Amino acid sequence: MKLLQDKNVIITGASRGIGKGIAQVFAQHGANVAFTYSSSEGPALTLEKELSALGVKAKAYKSNAASFEEAEQLVKEVLEDFGGVDVLINNAGITKDNLLMRMGEEDFDKVIEINLKSVFNMTKAIQRTLLKQRKGAIINMSSVVGVKGNAGQTNYAASKAGMIGFTKSVALELGSRNIRCNAIAPGFIETEMTEKLDEKTVQGWRDAIPLKRGGTPTDVANACLFLASDLSGYITGQVLHVDGGMLT
Ligand code: NAP
Repeated sequence: MKLLQDKNVIITGASRGIGKGIAQVFAQHGANVAFTYSSSEGPALTLEKELSALGVKAKAYKSNAASFEEAEQLVKEVLEDFGGVDVLINNAGITKDNLLMRMGEEDFDKVIEINLKSVFNMTKAIQRTLLKQRKGAIINMSSVVGVKGNAGQTNYAASKAGMIGFTKSVALELGSRNIRCNAIAPGFIETEMTEKLDEKTVQGWRDAIPLKRGGTPTDVANACLFLASDLSGYITGQVLHVDGGMLT
């Protein structure tokens, strides 16, 4: 059964990693996929071709999620190209890790802008469309770190915790119009983002996971599929943990 047949979806940051996994799973379920990237044009265009080959409409857009103007322009273009939007996945994110003692203001601001302000930018840009159609699903990619904190990631943890507060508030504001907003809190998912960590840290994460493995982008994408589809039609304002039991 295809769970997203003919739905139009926007995914931010899908040139690689979790976003790419979501784009692939969603296209396999019949969704038309508009997705963004920041600098990885080659991989984005390759993904665009791969998704189109599945028989859905797919288009890559270069758009900086941290920019309010670019988010507005992106939504305008997607509406012109796709004719509507049913689902928004705010996935784009970065890390700039350091102990608070050594963290510069620029690295704090950058992480908040790209991870958190981007969610405001995109949700604001899309809300009029979703309100008009009285239906929609928004999914925000938070993190286990936003729930429990992590030494060396004050900027990242603050951005991801902020996303959860934002998610719950949007769920309360837009629920009466049948617009659902949920967050996903992935644990340790093996992507380029986690490749930057040293082996000792990685082993520490793995040891702490009851299922004894890192997650895959597909693990997260399947949870996203559930939250984007009508299967989760009575679920809003929630944080779904996709972490192999890490937080249990
Ligand atoms: P990743 O492999 O580093 O990919 C990040 C994606 O975001 C790329 O497509 C990148 O585009 C895009 N991006 C970065 N800055 C952007 C910007 N300013 N505007 C638009 N797009 C931008 O990361 P990932 O591991 O897949 O993580 C995806 C999301 O899941 C992030 O929000 C992350 O915080 C969250 N998360 C990840 C993990 C994990 O263990 N991996 C755990 C919890 C939560 P370019 O390729 O063009 O740079």
